[in-house]
Amino acid sequence: MNFPLPVLDITRCTGVADCVAVCPTYCLEMDGPLPWLPRPADCISCGLCVLICPAEALTLAAE
Ligand code: SF4
Repeated sequence: MNFPLPVLDITRCTGVADCVAVCPTYCLEMDGPLPWLPRPADCISCGLCVLICPAEALTLAAE
C-alpha cells in the first residue's frame, strides 16, 4: 500500500519553509528556494505541511 506524499506546485510556492518547520519527522528540507522530500520513507502522510502552507502549494497525492 502506498501512502500519499506531499507534492509541490512550484508555481505557487513562495519558499517560506513553514512546511519544513512543521514536519514532525523532519523529512522535508529546503533545496535553495523550494522544499523537497529527501526522505519519503519517513513521511507519515499527516498533512501538516499541506495545512500550514500559506500559498496552498502542497497537496498529498498517492504515488
Ligand atoms: S505529510 Fe507530514 S510527515 Fe509528510 S512531509 Fe508533510 S508534514 Fe512531513
